[in-house]
Amino acid sequence: MKSYLKKDPWKVIEDKFHAEHNQITESIFSIGNARMGQRGYLEEGYSGHTLLGNYLAGIYYPDKTRVGWWKNGYPEYFAKVLNNCNWARLDIHINDQQLDLATCKIQSFYRELDMRSGLLSRQCEVQLQDGTVIEISSKRFYALFNKDLAVLNYSIKIIEGEGKISIKSLADFDIRNSDSNYDENFWEDHTSSQSGDIAYVQATTKKTGFVVGTGINTYISKNEQNITLEAIQPNHAISGQKMDESFSQGDVFSLNKYAVIKSSFYNDVNNIQAAIIEEAKNFGANDFEDLLQQQIIAWKSKWDHADIIIEGDVSAQQGIRFNIFHLNQTYDGKDDRLNIGPKGFTGEKYGGSTYWDTEAYCLPFYLFTAPQEVSRNLLIYRYKHLEKAIENAEKLGFNKGAALYPMVTINGEECHNEWEITFEEIHRNGAIAYAIYDYIRFTNDKNYIPEYGLEVLIGIARFWAQRVNYSNAKNAYVILGVTGPNEYENNINNNWYTNLMAQWCLKYAIEMLDLCEKEYKEDHNRITRKTSLEPSEIKHWKEVIDKMYFPKDETLNIFLQQDGFLDKEIIPVSELDPSHLPLNQKWSWDRILRSCYIKQADTLQGLYFFEDHYDLDTIKRNFDFYEPITVHESSLSPCVHSILACRLGYEEKAYEMYLRTSRLDLDDYNNDTEDGLHITSMAGTHMSVVKGLAGIKIEDNQIHISPLLPSDWTSLQFKFTFRNQPIELRIHTDFTEIINLSNNDLTINFKNQQTQISKESQIKITHD
Ligand code: BGC
Repeated sequence: MKSYLKKDPWKVIEDKFHAEHNQITESIFSIGNARMGQRGYLEEGYSGHTLLGNYLAGIYYPDKTRVGWWKNGYPEYFAKVLNNCNWARLDIHINDQQLDLATCKIQSFYRELDMRSGLLSRQCEVQLQDGTVIEISSKRFYALFNKDLAVLNYSIKIIEGEGKISIKSLADFDIRNSDSNYDENFWEDHTSSQSGDIAYVQATTKKTGFVVGTGINTYISKNEQNITLEAIQPNHAISGQKMDESFSQGDVFSLNKYAVIKSSFYNDVNNIQAAIIEEAKNFGANDFEDLLQQQIIAWKSKWDHADIIIEGDVSAQQGIRFNIFHLNQTYDGKDDRLNIGPKGFTGEKYGGSTYWDTEAYCLPFYLFTAPQEVSRNLLIYRYKHLEKAIENAEKLGFNKGAALYPMVTINGEECHNEWEITFEEIHRNGAIAYAIYDYIRFTNDKNYIPEYGLEVLIGIARFWAQRVNYSNAKNAYVILGVTGPNEYENNINNNWYTNLMAQWCLKYAIEMLDLCEKEYKEDHNRITRKTSLEPSEIKHWKEVIDKMYFPKDETLNIFLQQDGFLDKEIIPVSELDPSHLPLNQKWSWDRILRSCYIKQADTLQGLYFFEDHYDLDTIKRNFDFYEPITVHESSLSPCVHSILACRLGYEEKAYEMYLRTSRLDLDDYNNDTEDGLHITSMAGTHMSVVKGLAGIKIEDNQIHISPLLPSDWTSLQFKFTFRNQPIELRIHTDFTEIINLSNNDLTINFKNQQTQISKESQIKITHD
């Protein structure tokens, strides 16, 4: 864990340059606009540890899978989000010395990310080897209001010294992924050119043929007088402009750079270059401030819906805003072809692909904070991949329309890199069905079922019905050879969570078939015809439901994570030597697999999803057993533990887990933030506040609220929209205010008491 960044409610601040943490800081200071994004690297380059990362939604390369021994059923490729043009690059030479913070003496340094506006800025004073002292100040952002635009303002003030300065403003497409299975370059057909003042570069992805172009328009002034720039002879992948000037003490060189980036994902290939040049030309020397004002307004409207205010605890406040901020930079739900990669645009790990994270963790964030169509689009994304999920199941030997959604995907095809871990995590199919249920429960948009949902549910139910087998020994249906959410166990039998999801999916598919039969008769007939669904199948589903096997231990009266779990030596994490953590970086895989340590919520994930099916004592017994042996080495884990701890009234644990999820990257808890941020788990952070500490549940078609305010917090406040009714919640230590912002009356359940709130009015409830 590291705590070198300063705490502030709206900003992330680094007030001294931490070269040793530079790649972590780059991840944390990433900026983006839900269409593209960039790591917070230094514009002038840095010869220390750095990852220059620029990523675009939808643009990927199918990198050939890397495995030891190939086996049938392996995916052909692992999709990679592509690092593309470094539009922000500046090459600066002062008296023939390259400006590079790794070789300068840094006299002062301050960098901040302002989450209100998505503005990344830096001021620093450095001394070069020849004694020249300069002050650098830079600001850059990705426009929320124009998804193709990124902007940089950069200036150098001469504090001491004189001589010659050269500045090159470049668009550099000579870029390779740092994550590449066979060290290949994923781009080809680079072209570069100059058109008037616009420097242009373009490249095409190998195999997938996506074309990406970037045009930059740069203005530089010296002491507020514009300088005429000279075009640099473009090489195959780099284009730009430069200036060479003399300088003396007090001179200020100021640069504004506008980058327009477009791809064939959204544009006609033949028109990309012309469209970019046309647009880039329109930005004038002094437009930066106006654009920044537009940016502030655009972010304000996001924050108006999504902000969570925590009073009394700046760490907690900064943590939640940091998470909300990055989620909004990653996905805006406007395009149902896009999804949320575990690292968003902040790194290359996990390939930028879609995981079960979206359904199990991200969906609730968008349900609570964004218009309904955003969540609907996330579901439609999977509907569009149904055929591929059926093909995926066929490749593994299933038939008759059984659908197995991929664990990792970019276009519906399975594309993971590893064997048992991901391959056997068939539990993901359950999360995809659960998301449909979660969406309907929250929005009441039942039409989604006949329109899209039912076909998906049938495909998933068919998969489970074929994946189980009847065990004569157990007299029950079992599911063998799986990996549950806890990836520190592979190829196990009867993972309680997986069996639970399988049984539930079958029940839910039957329930939704019944719903359609009653309320959407025509659709019901159409879908059963289209899927050739036989009554005998449903009969079999019912039998599996009734006879599903669930491992449990009668003595401890707990559900067992899998068959034989108690054969392990159970030693709580608190008794481990802390220098052994994180286990995934310190222990051999063999040792991890044999141990009792749980990477992430597994049995508890099931209790979280279906909390209303279990009494509190059951949840408590299982929590008390599993929590002490969970290492939370998946970022997805602490949020679930935080929510359950809230239900059990374990205030300290709930708060500890809240801080761990919300500050996971800010404090680098798992020692892996340099790879990029844990974007999907950020949605889990939101859940831990809204569902956990505020205690919101949707049951019986209404909102239930049961808050647990950590002792340092004086208040917790946020807005959300439930079934088109905007509501504001202000939880204080002694009372809660609920404001009904809609023009319909509202009934809610506060700590088991039904409460009416008339339209456009509020109530105040004193806590017991
Ligand atoms: C977790 C998975 C998750 C993946 C991507 C892994 O570390 O164990 O549950 O889907 O990361 O976030």
